[in-house]
Amino acid sequence: EATIAGEFGRIMAWADEYRTMGVRTNADTPHDAQKARELGAEGIGLCRTEHMFFEGDRIDAFREMICSDTVEEREEALEKILPLQQGDFEQLYEAMEGNPVTIRFLDPPLHEFVPTEEEDIEKLAKAKGKTVAEIKAICESLHEFNPMMGHRGCRLAVTYPEIAVMQTKAVIRAAINVKNAHPDWNIVPEIMIPLIGDVKELKYCKKTVVETADAEIAAAGSDLKYHVGTMIEIPRAALTADEIAKEADFFCFGTNDLTQMTFGFSRDDAGKFLGAYYDAKIYENDPFAKLDQTGVGKLMEMAIKLGKAANPDLHIGICGEHGGDPSSVEFCNKIGLDYVSCSPYRVPIARLAAAQAAIAQK
Ligand code: PEP
Ligand code: MG
Repeated sequence: EATIAGEFGRIMAWADEYRTMGVRTNADTPHDAQKARELGAEGIGLCRTEHMFFEGDRIDAFREMICSDTVEEREEALEKILPLQQGDFEQLYEAMEGNPVTIRFLDPPLHEFVPTEEEDIEKLAKAKGKTVAEIKAICESLHEFNPMMGHRGCRLAVTYPEIAVMQTKAVIRAAINVKNAHPDWNIVPEIMIPLIGDVKELKYCKKTVVETADAEIAAAGSDLKYHVGTMIEIPRAALTADEIAKEADFFCFGTNDLTQMTFGFSRDDAGKFLGAYYDAKIYENDPFAKLDQTGVGKLMEMAIKLGKAANPDLHIGICGEHGGDPSSVEFCNKIGLDYVSCSPYRVPIARLAAAQAAIAQK
């Protein structure tokens, strides 16, 4: 239930009567989840789990995992993070009160997590029984010239399956606990694999997730159900969506990366030349803010058509920044998305835009 007070709340309630698309939020802290809920979010469409490796002692444990030589050492380091991440997920499920929660597995390149301060490097060397030079060499080996197109997303789950195992355990254990505490809530965790470009990648990662999840559920004697889905954020994923849909319970368009990779523009650097593009009247808008309906949008339409034909039960949403932009929301409604997901403070805008889109389409 929306808890916005007064006339604004009434307008929002009217909007909800008309809109057909769901509105979720992108949130990875209980505070953001709570705020979004107050603003009417009907679930979490994207929980980016990366910050859950940074806070407090976790970063130390995660760096130890990065600098480990064996699977056992990596598992031991991740074991320290597991209960903390489980606690994070429990709080998110609690904040969402039985509404859907989509948790995306670790996405950024590992290089973003390595220490740069001498003091931290020395600490890590001591913890791993290695020399400072050895630690520096490991960190340096993770350097990439093009990290956004590099060793990130599901590729991490292929090279370091232990991370996906740990995250699956945390998601499932948290869900079982919250389900036990609230038997009337519909707790069905949604595990989302980032940066899939090929169905074989999804199959490979899903195997790790399913084996781990099923073992956890059996060990707990639970009847928990869960979904495994994928982000569609690489053009190849959209082009081969029929294959991918056979292995996915849901698709969520990551239009930040999909825009980056469709345009071939770096999402971090495009600001440096886009101004000239506006002056030259090549573009009117920043494609990272307003969905490019003729290029990225075409890929989305194609992915929906191919995906639904192969898997009619496929649930489809968007969690790129565009999910909170009114004209993009209108387009999402037109192409038949089930929900949009946006940052907490854009939830009311998305609710209104979804209602206007539904009315316009009548
Ligand atoms: C995206 O790429 O649109 C997305 C939602 O993921 P992120 O912004 O975390 O890459
Ligand atoms: Mg992305």
